[in-house]
Amino acid sequence: MHKHHSALGLASPRSTVVRGIDIVAQRPVQPVTLTRPHAASRAARFFVEKFPGRSMYAVKANPSPDLLQILWDSGVTHYDVASIAEVRLVASTLPGATLCFMHPVKAEEAIAEAYFTHGVRVFSLDSIEELDKIVVATKGAEDLTLCVRLRVSSDHSKLSLASKFGAGPGESKELLMAARQVADALGICFHVGSQAMSPEAYANAMERVRAAIVEAAVTVDVIDVGGGFPSSYPGMEPPPLERYFATIHRAFESLPVSYSSELWCEPGRALCAEYSSLIVRVEKRRGSELYINDGAYGALFDAAHVGWRFPVNLLREPDSNARDMEFSFYGPTCDDLDHMAGPFLLPADIRAGDYIEIGMLGAYGSAMRTAFNGFGSDQTVIVGDEPMVSLYTEVEEPAVANNVVKL
Ligand SMILES: *Cc1c(COP(=O)(O)O)cnc(C)c1O
Repeated sequence: MHKHHSALGLASPRSTVVRGIDIVAQRPVQPVTLTRPHAASRAARFFVEKFPGRSMYAVKANPSPDLLQILWDSGVTHYDVASIAEVRLVASTLPGATLCFMHPVKAEEAIAEAYFTHGVRVFSLDSIEELDKIVVATKGAEDLTLCVRLRVSSDHSKLSLASKFGAGPGESKELLMAARQVADALGICFHVGSQAMSPEAYANAMERVRAAIVEAAVTVDVIDVGGGFPSSYPGMEPPPLERYFATIHRAFESLPVSYSSELWCEPGRALCAEYSSLIVRVEKRRGSELYINDGAYGALFDAAHVGWRFPVNLLREPDSNARDMEFSFYGPTCDDLDHMAGPFLLPADIRAGDYIEIGMLGAYGSAMRTAFNGFGSDQTVIVGDEPMVSLYTEVEEPAVANNVVKL
């Protein structure tokens, strides 16, 4: 299931040596993002074909218009947006897309513009105040799908989303009954937290949904299991996604909802993690610490702030024979916080001037870059080789070999 392709190693010499030589020969001074449209397309098709309901893309994970177009071309028709800027972005990039405004706390002006200008009909909420806001902003619209967000546990996830949003057990009954009065279609949604490492996360959340439906005794038309579908990182290899889908399907089938009710999900990370990687240069080595030219304020926010480990590969020609050892990284800014503990496994003879590919940065990597302290780069190159890890392929060798990087 998880196939690792070393960037310059023997595992896939056809696809990556060309890229490695090119990178090493051209010696880019700024970090370079490599994007892999085929990997995002494959992930999208996987969800469209195998999730037992509708898959909508959570735009915040990576709002790149190129990526939005790839997902659209691969069959993703619905988009989970959380701000008016995301509404405008998707509406202008994909005029045919259906937008669902799934942030439970919105500005009234944003709701009004989404409804009247961009045709948005699906909104989430977790309070009576938000329900009132939606009614006022849409001038009492009668064609709304309203999804009540329940607070559920993030116990199985690497990044919690359990505190900020969601109606708790004491609040959901009143809210579901009130939303039912207003909504054309009533939904229930939740988010189990990002990078959920077990399908149990969804089974447990669905029990909370069941209790809320029974307590409120309302007819529910949509069950939206949110995001949280994992990708694969060092030390965080999840079970196959099919297991998640089967668990969700089983739980959905046993809920007391109408026969015609729909099942939705909102994957962010799982659709785009494999879409991009980053090539960085080592500017200095101090023992087991490497000073690289991207970091906490660039595409490596999660590596710095939540200790996320990403797969790494030395790009050197000829390849190093040294054994691997554990390194940490410092980013380029003048700030102690710009530190990524890792550990990142790289050959012991790595030195200043070497290039490293950091993989699986398509989700919450490029989306969070800043230009703080004058660092950062928009340089992007489209490549056709396999991502360093994939949940969506069991292919031994990449099929595409013409991976020439022109900078
Ligand atoms: C962030 C978010 C998602 C996507 O979460 P992933 O863990 O990236 O799949 C989906 N829905 C909502 C409401 C979110 O806030």
